[in-house]
Amino acid sequence: MAGQGFSDADNQAPLYLRTTNEMLREFEYLDYDKAYEVVVTNTNAISDMCEEICPISKDKCPPHIEGADKDIEEICTNKAKSLYGEELPQIVKDRLKRELDSIIKNGFSTLYIIAQKLVKKSNDDGYLVGSRGSVGSSFVANMLSITEVNSLPPHYRCPNCKYSDFTDYGIKNGVDLPDKQCPKCGENLAKDGMDIPFETFLGFNGDKEPDIDLNFSGEYQGTIHKYTEKLFGEGKTFKAGTVSAIKDNIAFGYVKKYFDEREKQVPNAEISRLVKGCVGVKKTTGQHPGGIIVVPHDREIYEFCPVQHPADDPNSDIITTHFDYHSIDKNLLKLDMLGHVDPTMIRMLQDLTGIDPTTIPLDDKKTMSLFSSTKALGVEPEQIKSSVGSFGVPEFGTKFVRGMLEDTKPTTFEELIRISGLSHGTDVWLNNAETLIKEGKATLSEAICTRDDIMTYLIKQGLPPQNSFKIMESVRKGKGLNEEQESLMRENNVPEWYIDSCKKIKYMFPKAHAVAYVTMAFRIAWFKVYYPLEYYASYFTLRAPDFDSEFMIFGEEKVKSKMKELEQLGKLSKKDGDVYTILEILVEMYERGIEFLPIDLYKSHSTKFLVEDGKLRPPFSSISGLGGVAAESLKEAAAKEGGKFMSIDDLQIKSKVGNSVLDMLQKFGCLEGMSKSNQLSLFG
Ligand SMILES: [Zn+2]
Repeated sequence: MAGQGFSDADNQAPLYLRTTNEMLREFEYLDYDKAYEVVVTNTNAISDMCEEICPISKDKCPPHIEGADKDIEEICTNKAKSLYGEELPQIVKDRLKRELDSIIKNGFSTLYIIAQKLVKKSNDDGYLVGSRGSVGSSFVANMLSITEVNSLPPHYRCPNCKYSDFTDYGIKNGVDLPDKQCPKCGENLAKDGMDIPFETFLGFNGDKEPDIDLNFSGEYQGTIHKYTEKLFGEGKTFKAGTVSAIKDNIAFGYVKKYFDEREKQVPNAEISRLVKGCVGVKKTTGQHPGGIIVVPHDREIYEFCPVQHPADDPNSDIITTHFDYHSIDKNLLKLDMLGHVDPTMIRMLQDLTGIDPTTIPLDDKKTMSLFSSTKALGVEPEQIKSSVGSFGVPEFGTKFVRGMLEDTKPTTFEELIRISGLSHGTDVWLNNAETLIKEGKATLSEAICTRDDIMTYLIKQGLPPQNSFKIMESVRKGKGLNEEQESLMRENNVPEWYIDSCKKIKYMFPKAHAVAYVTMAFRIAWFKVYYPLEYYASYFTLRAPDFDSEFMIFGEEKVKSKMKELEQLGKLSKKDGDVYTILEILVEMYERGIEFLPIDLYKSHSTKFLVEDGKLRPPFSSISGLGGVAAESLKEAAAKEGGKFMSIDDLQIKSKVGNSVLDMLQKFGCLEGMSKSNQLSLFG
């Protein structure tokens, strides 16, 4: 209580649950038999009269959309026919049927149709949606356009005459298949198929609780959340509430402060005892960044939980579930719609270049070369201090992943997927695959990189599918293997290094997730190769909140000296690390021959970097300390003036910015040639 700031914490009423003996002592003024009757006999009698109740309705209440079963079947079949022809290839027909049967039988059609509507709405409004998690393992999800990941085996199909070829050419995914012309009509064949088992998503009996996690553009997230309210009706959708508890270090701080303030010396054991008592107690409430809880139209949220504003803030217009969403997500549907920067970046690149991102070839050689060389950027490794060209490419730009790229020199889409899996797991690469590959015990293509690898490999080794699935689930949750599983693997000639590797893994990506992320990353990398100006403009606009014009826009020398300055600090803080990342990208940009224009009162945007005459024009917000509101009002005032503020005073009156902002503008040369006031310009 003291730690939470209650000044009367020391004057607590003695309210706590007493032991039977303590209670008997409280009633000592009665004789013993009477006290026993009051404390023990009667309380038990009352308890026996009560039936057991649960504060949360036990019902499982997913929303129901009339005709969902029929709808998904129809949409899938039509989409499949538009890709593979009126008479579907057997492999497509079988996969569709198996998935649809399983989805419909287990009552998941509504979930699929909801996701389909959400993604369609976003696509119609011009924003791609990234899929997270394992939903890309479902071919039905692909046919409903919920995910871009096509989980069929690698194959060719003709966009013109619908010819298709599912022959196994020994290539692990469609993108890596060699180019080929249609033997029937001569058209260039499309290549697809990431070869992912459906079971990763719904389990072998199709009864694993499915989770459709979607990444919407951050700037579109509000719109899509509102759309769910429209879809399900007012008062039927709530933000998923969270409850955060006091953690070890915070609890320790509370206890320490408590005794310090009272100048008391206590043994460490007592401190530990009190810390233990505080850990896990509710600290505050909040909301899941993208979670929406849906109540079916014939039910009320109050059957499941009360509602509230997050962090008890009565002025917030957000309403969340009062209970932590985990305690009710078995009963009610939780939609997971995060805001993500990749779809925003893709949208900005599309706006700047007019290129439809879905038409970008995922087998582009030049783009692929970025992951193993700097050639496509037209620079030598020494110029940018990196032997790969992936600075700023999502998932592949960090020092950690660049190191993996340098070790493995990937040249295929398959390898990128594997690296993505390796880099996102916990104890999957470090102390695991990295060592195995270095020691020559396994190659990149043999090492365990994603969940699906385990199941697919074990089935191939001859283990029963059900066991292979269970082993995969246990390993990916970090639970390792039990004795029975280990001996089953040995019986089927699974090598020791593989078993060891499984035991070390704490968490790992599903393949579908890796594919979806690599697809987005590859597109952004493609823009980096072919549209450098637009690439850097959108990178600095969306991914570089620490951009600071003062030492970034005045040439490469200034950038390099700032880098040196940071390098001398040794270990960098989070913020300095982020700044350093931007500096690395700036060096690369300058080395590719791109420069900045000055910040300009009339030509600069408030927050966006603009492409102008083969150069980049930084926005007002790139001046450190100049806030978003000031940037916006400067832009608005300049737009109204159309190129002519009469004086600095005039600028200040019209834009309502403070003196400190004027000083900043002065420093960046934005006020050059302007007189202080109107009078001076008349008489001076
Ligand atoms: Zn054809």
